[in-house]
Formats: sequence, structure tokens, C-alpha cells
Amino acid sequence: MDGGWRHEVGGGWRYEVAGGVGVFRASALESAGVVACVSSRCGGVGARPFDSLNLGRGVDDAEVAVEENRRRLGEALGVPWPRLATVRQVHGTTVHTVAGAGPQGLDADALIGRGPGTALAILVADCAPVLLLDPRTGALGLAHAGWRGTVGGIAARTVAALHDAYGCRPGDLLAAVGPAIGPCCYEVDEPVLARLRAAVPWWAEVVRPGRPGHAYLDVPGANLRVLRDAGLDPDRVDVSGLCTACGQDRLFSHRGSGGRTGRMAAVLALAG
Ligand SMILES: [Zn+2]
Repeated sequence: MDGGWRHEVGGGWRYEVAGGVGVFRASALESAGVVACVSSRCGGVGARPFDSLNLGRGVDDAEVAVEENRRRLGEALGVPWPRLATVRQVHGTTVHTVAGAGPQGLDADALIGRGPGTALAILVADCAPVLLLDPRTGALGLAHAGWRGTVGGIAARTVAALHDAYGCRPGDLLAAVGPAIGPCCYEVDEPVLARLRAAVPWWAEVVRPGRPGHAYLDVPGANLRVLRDAGLDPDRVDVSGLCTACGQDRLFSHRGSGGRTGRMAAVLALAG
């Protein structure tokens, strides 16, 4: 079943089946010695429409399936699920500095941490996961960037929090933007576009025309721009280019599925 096969998916990411579970790995970050990946929907036990590696509770999937999927992913990555620091994601821009393992018990959409055993996770199903590693200090940052977080600059806020907490220099950071709904599929309406225009002067670079009153938004591309403005070297930012809605054979897509689907986990962790 395992086969241990892998292939490049572009943008510095590769797909790998390990222990029967499919994961997308951020190659540059992993080469620096951390676990940096986003799970796929492949290799779990869930039934439709959560087939099969749904990791999110509260989406109407069977609890026993979610538990087994979390166990499988933990085993495949060598990072047991209970070690992963998680927050209640609310599409905001709050960055939380982790205190210990497991659920942090508060509302936030980004996590930072440092030190042996630090392990961060967020859940996604169209929103862009932004993974940050400072090879100099060993600090980690992980952000959940949908359109609201992107417009609010959550990736830049995470970079700033890494600087404030650990002295990280933006130019040293390695970053990766994982699979997310792409500009091919993510049509948004005028209220969203108005927020984007008000927030960033470069808004026209990340939209293309859609139906009247609509446009297609490039969330991963916008996050690349946010990171560049925050001082990161664009050559050190890997954007996967994989669209969740186009790639539902391996990815969960909230928009692409009509709203009833599973959640993938972005995991960023140091060895214990
Ligand atoms: Zn697409």
C-alpha cells in the first residue's frame, strides 16, 4: 500500500505517500530540519463526503474516523496529534505564542513558537496555510490565511510577531504557502474586493475579471506579496500553486464541494 513514492508538485512542494497517508511537503523547510507539510485527503478512514483523511471536528464527520485519521497522520509524520498546538480559528488576524502542547484554548489564526518539541497545526480547506521557519533561531510560525486574513496581513503580522518574540530577521526566514483555492476558482464579490482595495495598493495584481460585480482573487499570490512587503526574500518563499477546488482528488475544498467537506492539517514541527 505504502510504496513510499513521491513526486514534485511544483513551487518547491512535493507529494509523498508515507505510512499510507498522502502529504504535501515543503521541501526547503524540511531540508532545514523541521516537519513542514499539509495533509491531503488520502489515506484515511472517513466516508463521503469526508473521504477520507478528514482531520476536523465539527464538520459532521464521525468522531471515531477523525480520531483514527489524526492517529494515522501523527504516525506518518512522527508527530503525535496531541503534541500539536492548535487554536480556535476565526478568520481573524491574532497571532498566538504557544504555551505548551495541544489545544491552546483561545481564538487566533496564527501560531508562533520555538524550542524542542514545538509543534504547530492549523486546519484548512481552501484558505492558504503559510509556514515560516527561521533557520537561525529555530523559531516557527504558521498562519491561516483566507481572504479576511490575507487582507488583514496575517502573514506579515506573524513575521512581526516572530521578530518581536525571538528577534527573527525577515530576510532570514524561509516560507511556504501551501495548497489553497486558486485564482482559477476563487470568485469573490464586490464587498470582498472593496476590502481588498482599501487594504493594499497592489490589489489589482492579485485579481482578474469575473462576472459583473465579481473578480477572481489570487489568495496564495497575495500572501506572497504580503510576505515580500514584510521583508522576506521572494526566492525563499515557496508557493505550491495547487488549487484545492481543481484538485479535489487529493484535497478538500470548502468552495469546490459546496461547503460540506473535510479539513486538512498544516503541520510545522521541530523534533522532540
Ligand atoms: Zn482551481
